[in-house]
Amino acid sequence: MPGISTSRLLIRPGQRSGGTRGGTKPLSRSYAPHVEPLLDRLNRPLETLRISITDRCNFRCVYCMPKEVYGRDHAFLERRELLTLEELARAVGIFAGLGVRTVRITGGEPLVRRNVEHLVELLSAIETPAGERLELALTTNGSLLAQKAEALAAAGLSRVTVSLDSLDDEAFRAMNDVDFPVQKVLEGIDAAAAAGLPVKVNAVVKRGANDADVLGLAEHFRGTGHVLRFIEYMDVGSTNGWQLEDVVSAEEIVRRISERWPLEPVGLDRPDATARRWRYLDGAGEVGVIASVTQPFCGGCSRARLSAEGRLYTCLFAQRGHDLRAPLRLGATDEELTAQLRSIWSGRTDRYSELRTAETASLPKVEMSYIGG
Ligand code: SAM
Repeated sequence: MPGISTSRLLIRPGQRSGGTRGGTKPLSRSYAPHVEPLLDRLNRPLETLRISITDRCNFRCVYCMPKEVYGRDHAFLERRELLTLEELARAVGIFAGLGVRTVRITGGEPLVRRNVEHLVELLSAIETPAGERLELALTTNGSLLAQKAEALAAAGLSRVTVSLDSLDDEAFRAMNDVDFPVQKVLEGIDAAAAAGLPVKVNAVVKRGANDADVLGLAEHFRGTGHVLRFIEYMDVGSTNGWQLEDVVSAEEIVRRISERWPLEPVGLDRPDATARRWRYLDGAGEVGVIASVTQPFCGGCSRARLSAEGRLYTCLFAQRGHDLRAPLRLGATDEELTAQLRSIWSGRTDRYSELRTAETASLPKVEMSYIGG
């Protein structure tokens, strides 16, 4: 990857970070070089951490941050409430010591947070106990990617996922609800690829909003090397007025594409993969579907999620999180934080999507824009 300094100091959990600034405590040296996987009550290891670095976004996607709820007077988190970049890096170092190998930076829109490149730099200096670099992914709406792609790649980002729900400019502008054009997102994707970042493209499909563009998206990204993944519209949060009729199932999406360009299934590369992969028989690459509603994958879920204000959620559909900011700011040692995380993860039983009913779908849940996708 271009721009990565070969002399970058790698930090293993248990070592002091040379790159972090004031306020960051040295990590203790008590970790063993290899850790036993930390398993929850359903035997699922903790492997992936998603960190939301802001609850703000410059889009108002109708299925995620509807304008009626996230209007001008909406109370977003204050700056002092957000975990600092150094606090985030410290938390990630501790998670890495517990077995996390992949960190996804998300939001809100992560690229609206000032100095996100510096966060990437801090995280790219963290090593797993086995001495490997963390896999650093970022999910973005792509609006600021053309400006930032090169700096992110140089800071050590491994890959990027860009959300793009339609190539039909009118439909896309209506979905993001801030009149943002498709072309600028495509420029962001090109800039990321030019910076050497592998790109995935995510499209949420909502019936009546953009489902007419499934084939258009598939056609555009076939053969480009960018893997397109369709996401079933989910009942996350409680502000988007979700109803089952609006969900276009993965089965329907695959059928529609396959009728035009035949597909065959590809095996899962990781047991905790979110997307089911399909290969074009004509060799034009792959497409994925994330079927959280119709084919839930809780059984392999190894993801923990940290909100921008430092609350840890063990499920995307959780109602409550665990406060990590208070202990982080009140001087807890790494051992104390590690013990707290161990206790939270080892007691985890969440499997919301597998248990979903009409009743649970209408319960208050954490918002996607707050916890990140
Ligand atoms: N702003 C960034 C972006 O647009 O990718 C990161 C945050 S956004 C919440 C992460 C992903 O969640 C996006 O791909 C978005 O489309 C998806 N998302 C949001 N609400 C959703 C819902 N109700 N169902 C399915 N996906 C959703």
